This record gives sequence, structure tokens and C-alpha cells, in this order.
Amino acid sequence: MAYIELKNVYKYFNVAGNKIIANDNINLSIDKGQLVIIVGASGAGKTTLLNLIGGMDKLSEGEIIVDDKNLSDMNEKEITKYRRDDVGFVFQFYNLIPNLTSIENVELASEIAKDNMDAYKALDEVGLSNRKDSFPSQLSGGEQQRVAIARAIAKSPKLLLCDEPTGALDYRTGKSILKLLQDTAKNLNTTVIIITHNTAIKDIADKVFELKDGKIVNEYENKNPENVENIEW
Ligand code: ATP
Repeated sequence: MAYIELKNVYKYFNVAGNKIIANDNINLSIDKGQLVIIVGASGAGKTTLLNLIGGMDKLSEGEIIVDDKNLSDMNEKEITKYRRDDVGFVFQFYNLIPNLTSIENVELASEIAKDNMDAYKALDEVGLSNRKDSFPSQLSGGEQQRVAIARAIAKSPKLLLCDEPTGALDYRTGKSILKLLQDTAKNLNTTVIIITHNTAIKDIADKVFELKDGKIVNEYENKNPENVENIEW
């Protein structure tokens, strides 16, 4: 049984009386510990799909099953618990709290989840224990993203959802963040889903889905994913 399974998933939005089909009959399955890349142009439906899988929005039709649980069958309390305990989120612009230090940003998230990793250990995992008392404004973009990843993995999530995690970073820093995400999937057995415009990074994933106009137009597995060091864009 796959860890994540989407069956005939549709998501519609109603904009000024027009029905927009943001996700159009999505079928996919993802195994535990896989690094997955969902790639597509702007407006392809990537963020919408990530929001559905992360329990941040409700689907219009179909089924999303995570860890044998159908998200549509969960009540508000259960879906909140799922978002809080099982899912970590990483965003393009880090979304750290500016007046809290690195360690405080991480602690805040891990304290509200159960089974959490120690905040210091999480910062250590991302190579930033020496910057634990720095505020976000004192850190580079890459370092801020590392804190954001520490914040997410400190919850010991089963699933890490990353929305353009390297979109605001330079080439070299972006690569180091991708390496960290690849290592997280491998070493912590966390299922990591990255959504991106950047087709050049597809080779690092265990599984790739290409999205166009709300539909999956191509999907494949990489039996031997490329090491991040060996890709270029
Ligand atoms: P980008 O890379 O630019 O973020 P994307 O691939 O993530 O694009 P989505 O943001 O999922 O694409 O958008 C898919 C479609 O759904 C677009 O046409 C968008 O305008 C529409 N859409 C997304 N969210 C909403 C919303 N809350 N209300 C109305 N329409 C929406």
C-alpha cells in the first residue's frame, strides 16, 4: 500500500461565475521516504495540489488517502491534528517569525506537535546549531531556509511539503538546500514533495510528476536518482 494515494482528484474554484479546474483528475501514488518532484509552469496547479495533500484545502471530487486514512473522512479536529503532527511545510520565502531567534522559531513549532525532535537536534541536522541565537534578519537566505527546514523536521513529520524551496535562493545555496531535502528523505525516511518550475532538478527525485493545465501529463521513477552535486541549471 502506497503511503499517499490520490484517486480521481479534482479541485475547482469559482471565479466570478467561471469554473476553474485547478486539478483535473489527478491519480498518483507515493511511497514512504520517497523524494518526489512535481514540476510545471505557473498556473499548472502545483500549489493547489500541495494544499490538498497537506490538508490545507478540501478537494472537490475524488479521494486522498495518506497512511491509510482518507482525508475527506476526517473531521476538523482530525485534519488539524494531521496538519500539525504529520505534515511539515517549507515555503519559498521561509516564513520565519522575525522577532524570534533560530532556536525559538524551531521550538515554537516542535512544542505544539507530538513526537517532536529536540529543537537543537533539528538545527544541528541542518548544520546551523552555531546560529541558534541569531534572528532571521542576521541570517542569509540559505540559512533562513535551513531554519525553516529545521522547524519543519523538528516536528518529526511523516511528510514534508516544499513549495519552491529554492525559488528565492542563488544557484549554489539552492543546491545545498536540495541536498538537505534529499538527505532528509533518505536519512529520516520522511516523504518529501517538492513543487517547482525548475525542470532541471527532476533527476534528483525518486519520482517525478509533470503537471500541465491541472493534469498529470507525464510521470516516471528514477531508479538511481542523481546526486544534487551532479545536476546543473
Ligand atoms: P505557480 O507556480 O504560479 O504558483 P501553480 O502551478 O502552483 O502556479 P496554482 O497556484 O495551483 O498553480 O493555480 C492553478 C489554477 O488555480 C490557476 O488558474 C489559479 O489562478 C487557480 N487558483 C488557485 N488558487 C485559487 C483560489 N484560491 N481561488 C481561485 N482560483 C485559484
